[in-house]
Amino acid sequence: KYVIEIENIEKNYQVGTQVVRALRGVTTKIERGDYVAIMGPSGSGKSTLMNIIGALDTPSAGTYILNNHNVSQLTDDHLAEIRNREIGFVFQTFNLLHQYSALENVMLPLVYGGVPKAERIEKAKEALSKVGLEDRMTHKPNELSGGQRQRVAVARALINNPSIILADEPTGNLDSKTSIDIMRLFNEIHSGGNTIILVTHEEDIAQHAHRILRFRDGEIERDERNADITAMV
Ligand code: ADP
Ligand code: ADP
Repeated sequence: KYVIEIENIEKNYQVGTQVVRALRGVTTKIERGDYVAIMGPSGSGKSTLMNIIGALDTPSAGTYILNNHNVSQLTDDHLAEIRNREIGFVFQTFNLLHQYSALENVMLPLVYGGVPKAERIEKAKEALSKVGLEDRMTHKPNELSGGQRQRVAVARALINNPSIILADEPTGNLDSKTSIDIMRLFNEIHSGGNTIILVTHEEDIAQHAHRILRFRDGEIERDERNADITAMV
């Protein structure tokens, strides 16, 4: 039932002689297929939590169970493997490789997974069609609009069929109309059964989610469930 189980997670950063307590005992569970927004002021621990959920970093204390695997204290190699298999990342700045076409960008995660080339192309085409870019496959990022670039990034995030899509301010670099298009795309992906966790500063973006975790000073200050999610888009 739960894709994520987090129990009393703490994260400390040592800065010189000072210890920064970025997360001060965070406990939560996220159901498979849920759609969660993480909000909170700058410095409240959102990125730190996303890095732990995304298996980019490990907590100083507490346990993190992802898909029934305890990933709290794995080695970097193990984390990388879990990350490639279980997590799809979407970033504010798209993080596409500019010298590669949309199709090649989307194929990349499969290269690391050792999938044969013909199959990589087939899957990447499928993913690009899913995000409405079937006629832009050979375009490079600088030949695409911001919204189209983010669609390529979403297709890349979906390609390995991850357990969770993690999106860090996915509309942060988009105008409001394009943001709405991208949020529609997230809604579709969520309707298809994917679990989505996104960080946003914008209340109207967060309202697309079904649940909002509000952070303050390294703790979950409020955990809200959106009752009325029918007329959001
Ligand atoms: P948010 O994403 O909500 O802005 P962060 O998770 O980035 O917050 O930061 C939480 C706290 O941890 C802040 O006080 C920040 O300065 C500190 N912090 C984050 N990353 C590091 C790091 N790599 N080294 C030292 N301190 C850090
Ligand atoms: P910010 O929101 O602070 O500007 P980013 O959204 O670029 O930062 O990155 C958020 C986190 O994800 C950072 O800790 C960064 O190291 C990590 N990251 C960035 N790019 C990738 C990537 N391609 N694969 C995995 N992790 C990444």
